Amino acid sequence: MTGTRLRVYDDTRALFHMPDGVIYLDGNSLGALPLGVAERVARVITAEWGDELIRAWNSAGWYEQPRRVGNRIAALIGAEQGSVMMGDTLSLKVYQALAAALDMTRRKVVLSDTGNFPTDLYMAEGLIATLGRGHRLRLVAPEEVEAALSEEIAVLYLTEVDYRTGRRHDMAALTAKARALGILTVWDLAHSAGALPVDLAGAGADFAAGCTYKFLNGGPGAPAFLYVAPWHAEVARPALSGWMGHAKPFAFDLGYRPAGGVERMRVGTPPVLAMAALEASLDIWDRVDLGEVRARSLRLGDLLIAEVERRCPSLKLVTPRAHAQRGSQVSFAFADGYAAMQALIARGVIGDFRSPDIMRFGITPLYVGEADMLRAAGIIEEVIAGEVWRRPEYQVVNAVT
Ligand SMILES: *Cc1c(COP(=O)(O)O)cnc(C)c1O
Repeated sequence: MTGTRLRVYDDTRALFHMPDGVIYLDGNSLGALPLGVAERVARVITAEWGDELIRAWNSAGWYEQPRRVGNRIAALIGAEQGSVMMGDTLSLKVYQALAAALDMTRRKVVLSDTGNFPTDLYMAEGLIATLGRGHRLRLVAPEEVEAALSEEIAVLYLTEVDYRTGRRHDMAALTAKARALGILTVWDLAHSAGALPVDLAGAGADFAAGCTYKFLNGGPGAPAFLYVAPWHAEVARPALSGWMGHAKPFAFDLGYRPAGGVERMRVGTPPVLAMAALEASLDIWDRVDLGEVRARSLRLGDLLIAEVERRCPSLKLVTPRAHAQRGSQVSFAFADGYAAMQALIARGVIGDFRSPDIMRFGITPLYVGEADMLRAAGIIEEVIAGEVWRRPEYQVVNAVT
């Protein structure tokens, strides 16, 4: 933590831009805008890009930016310094992690669950097809993952918190059991980073990846991160062997040689402007305690659950009630959930909908408080009890839900 410590919500609420009349419960999909971001990005554009031009790669530290930012992310996910690299998208980073893991074992089965985010599964399918070596992707229900671990499994490939239900796996226990069986682990932290304390080093995870535009408030298009455990860093094969991950990118050798350590997971030119926005957002994260974020998140979640269940019996809670089994969102099943969410958004309560019937409310204690939960519950009641969602204007389905 650098600078004076910030109290979650009491000190941090004022550090975010929030439009009047909006109760924002979708920070698990796109985090809110921290106030300093626009100025920071403007400075990088004018003073660095504008005045320094190509020199900025050296003079403004653009070249080291993915490692520098990676170290700040490492502090938020219990990772060793020097073990996290920024870049690309989460889809690409899980691909790299899974490819590196499969390269380290002769086993052929990748185990994941039916709650995983589709892109993780699609990328695994694509990788398996490209490898052409008889690998298989095996999917089981989230509750059945532990029992499905065996010496046949090559890689346990999971997202810690289910994007739909908010159900949370026991990362420490599953990783320990996997290790004991000789299984490598790849954890997706999309709904964990900035949502709850994560302890990758303590868990002994082999690889992890996540995005920074959700709870970390890095902005649309903010780059992903990739963690490689220190004991793999000098041997992991990057699969996407781009020039920036070469041992000597500016030697322009004709053959590829990976850089030392996690640097090898770089692919091409980093998104400097997008990462500048993320760096400004991390100025807040550097100064808050994730234990406090977590405690507040659970309290807010409990409050929303209690209020919605009391007022709207037709909404069925699908998020586990037990704190240890929950991420930082609350989800309800409701057959007309899409239309109901459109009606809520029209009334300033912004959550989102996940097919087939899930109304999802993200909980981001840096800028959402108890009064927001109570007001949101009142508006949810108005929409559900009043059957406002039946109006035709709420039935039109947008491209992005
Ligand atoms: C949000 C999310 C993604 C998104 O991947 P992108 O490549 O950043 O679009 C991937 N996996 C999980 C588990 C997610 O929640």
